[in-house]
Amino acid sequence: MKIKAIRATVYEWQGRTVPPQQNFCTNPMNALPDRGDAMASFRFHSWLVCEVETDNGLIGLGNCALAPQVAKTIIERHLAPLVIGQDPWDTEYVWQRMYRQTMAWGRKGIGMAAISAVDLAIWDILGKAVGKPVFKLLGGRTKAKIPCYASKLYSQPLDALAAEAQRYVDAGFQAVKMRFGWGPADGPAGMRRNLDLVRTVREVIGPDRDLMCEAYMGWTLDYARRMLPKLADYEPRWLEEPVIPDDIGGYAELRALGSVPISGGEHEFTLYGFKHLLDAGAIDVIQYDTNRVGGITAAQKINALAEAYGIPVIPHAGQMHNYHVTMANLNCPLSEYFPVHDVEIGNELFYYLFDGEPEPSDGSIDLADDVPGLGINLSQRHAASFRVVS
Ligand code: MG
Repeated sequence: MKIKAIRATVYEWQGRTVPPQQNFCTNPMNALPDRGDAMASFRFHSWLVCEVETDNGLIGLGNCALAPQVAKTIIERHLAPLVIGQDPWDTEYVWQRMYRQTMAWGRKGIGMAAISAVDLAIWDILGKAVGKPVFKLLGGRTKAKIPCYASKLYSQPLDALAAEAQRYVDAGFQAVKMRFGWGPADGPAGMRRNLDLVRTVREVIGPDRDLMCEAYMGWTLDYARRMLPKLADYEPRWLEEPVIPDDIGGYAELRALGSVPISGGEHEFTLYGFKHLLDAGAIDVIQYDTNRVGGITAAQKINALAEAYGIPVIPHAGQMHNYHVTMANLNCPLSEYFPVHDVEIGNELFYYLFDGEPEPSDGSIDLADDVPGLGINLSQRHAASFRVVS
């Protein structure tokens, strides 16, 4: 079996969008005096689909987001010539060809997201070639079902926040994640408002469910240091991305305080990126996304490393590529799940673009043992709401 062709297509959402309110989530732009458009750090309204076709007629589907039009150019101009003609079973060799040939400018960010999309498509092909779901090629079933945490609870008026949290409790979720609305520029009043959000959610979910708290790189080290003792009263399962991902020393310092577990890695890449985080003692929980970190080929190496460090891996964003690695690794105890209602920040587009994504039941999802590959197909349900970007 040889790879015959690669196609990269960007789908831009043209349908109804319901943007969240101002201050719905802190973000890296909060450090600047002119914060600009609050949505700018979150507007992921287009998605890349990578189709890899083999000479025996199989088509694998990969994907990535972030800056999909840049990824499309990288795949078409730089990666396709390295991959066409190769045997898709040579996953490690093909990955190393892509990684090493793009070393000067790839490595992290959108270069690695593009490699991830190709790698995911190749793993989808392998599952389809043998008639097995991808997780069966990675270690198989390690759990009866995958518990999920409901991840949204944007900063909003407290009564609406409480009502949303109650919906997740009623749906059977044993864990939820909320977002902070205020950062260093908002002073003590913002701190108090952040704590009001945490207290509101904790009061709804009670003491026996996990509460995760997300800062999305929107705080400074100084601000996080001051917030941690106040947060500790509410026993969060973790504080997520309190500072920018390059401040590894900052993560390590916060973790060393020992009051609240620290999570990160949503914006980190490859085995080496996570080796640096783990060697520095920087995080309690790893949260890579398989469609950014280097695909399944890279994710499996990180999983092995994290297991040896005793650090759980709970991938970002749910989505099938992450569910397969979660199912196949004992060290992945939980999945994130974005409840899909409206298209808001754009992470929801995965559900509109693909068929096959499992919906949680009583707070857990399951993967079929008899659906080959990643188990997703391009959906026609919302095709009219997407524009193909050339
Ligand atoms: Mg996050």
